[in-house]
Amino acid sequence: MKQTDSLESEVRSYCRAYPVMFSKAKDSHLIDKDGKSYLDFLCGAGSLNYGHNNPVLKNKIIDYLNQDGIIHSLDLATESKEEFLNSFSKNILSPRNMDYKVQFTGPTGTNAVEAALKIARKVTGRTKIISFTNGFHGVTLGAVAATGNQHHRGGAGIPLNDVIFMPFDGYMGKKVNTIDYMRRLLEDNSSGVDLPAAVVLETVQGEGGINVASSQWLQSLQELCKEFGILIIIDDIQVGCGRTGTFFSFEGMGIQPDLVTLSKSLSGFGLPFSLLLLKPELDVWKPGEHNGTFRGNNMAFVTATAAIEEYWVPDELENQIILNSKIMKARLDEIASEFPTSDIQVRGKGMIYGIDCILEDLASEIKQKCFENGLILETCGSDDQVVKLLPALNISEDDLRKGLDILEKSIKQVMDESDYKKILEAEIVQK
Ligand SMILES: *Cc1c(COP(=O)(O)O)cnc(C)c1O
Repeated sequence: MKQTDSLESEVRSYCRAYPVMFSKAKDSHLIDKDGKSYLDFLCGAGSLNYGHNNPVLKNKIIDYLNQDGIIHSLDLATESKEEFLNSFSKNILSPRNMDYKVQFTGPTGTNAVEAALKIARKVTGRTKIISFTNGFHGVTLGAVAATGNQHHRGGAGIPLNDVIFMPFDGYMGKKVNTIDYMRRLLEDNSSGVDLPAAVVLETVQGEGGINVASSQWLQSLQELCKEFGILIIIDDIQVGCGRTGTFFSFEGMGIQPDLVTLSKSLSGFGLPFSLLLLKPELDVWKPGEHNGTFRGNNMAFVTATAAIEEYWVPDELENQIILNSKIMKARLDEIASEFPTSDIQVRGKGMIYGIDCILEDLASEIKQKCFENGLILETCGSDDQVVKLLPALNISEDDLRKGLDILEKSIKQVMDESDYKKILEAEIVQK
């Protein structure tokens, strides 16, 4: 209990799980005020893909500050914005043959989602949005309406309208193609489902439990959307910027979304920064119609440009993600096989992985034990039953292996000190 806990709102959350005072951070390490070091597999919920205080990005900011570069500019034209736009266009969009306009929104991810939902409704003249089970899109009213989680929805205080939820890939089990279900509802004039302006989804659901959509499912969704004039919004806030192995999570999956949101690791340095990519014909905004005071975070422009040039022009990072992904997957499969049931699933892609522990308390005790052992990670999923791993993409192999060692050791300790073995066995019998 900190002295300021009575002052700060009850809404605080992560600091409750890791009740120490942090003072410094470097690469994949967080250091508390007593000098204890923790490996960070939380990475600001995926907003530190290149690690804490990345030296390349840090030096760019220091230089920029020393030159009295503009820090705040509303959306005035600045050199740093110009440089970001040129670099993003030349190094990210063009090589991928992606023709989009860039809209800078307010600095939070949820604001980029709001902008996407608004423009989709404005362009199509339709009101409804289709979102998916376990989807997470932020907590402002528009975005939280498209978020499945009851805990977050409960904070809204008003009815959350105009979003229809459909089952995500795999939601009804491996054998059910949930797009068939969706197609039937959209085709049937009496299904009660109005044609929506857009679908909004993550290709890998981050907060929702690391649920990975297959290329085939995404392609069928795109086909269906084309047929009914429904726009596709890919919310790449958490799994974009390299998390799944490519800059955009949907690369190579055979879909061309109409709108894409980016935030979390976009600045690369943990600075607030969000944007919306729109197909040019969708850009029907009137000047200032969706605005915001903090659309010009120039320090974020500087670090985002540096991150692109450092990590996305050469292809070393992509190769490193492939190697790290293999290390993670192999080790997590091994760890999962040590549970007393084969129902424990490892899900993920690139460098976002989760172990579905089935039981909420078990996942939370593993998180707690990891923390005691010097590893910070979070849980996710409908019941917080999934232990989630989000290491920095450029983590050293040594740190990655150390973190996985701590995870394995912590799980063993929790199993040895508790009745979970028996509970898990009993759960399986009940099924
Ligand atoms: C974190 C997140 C958001 C919301 O971003 P904030 O910056 O917290 O508002 C939206 N969508 C996804 C997929 C996210 O992971």
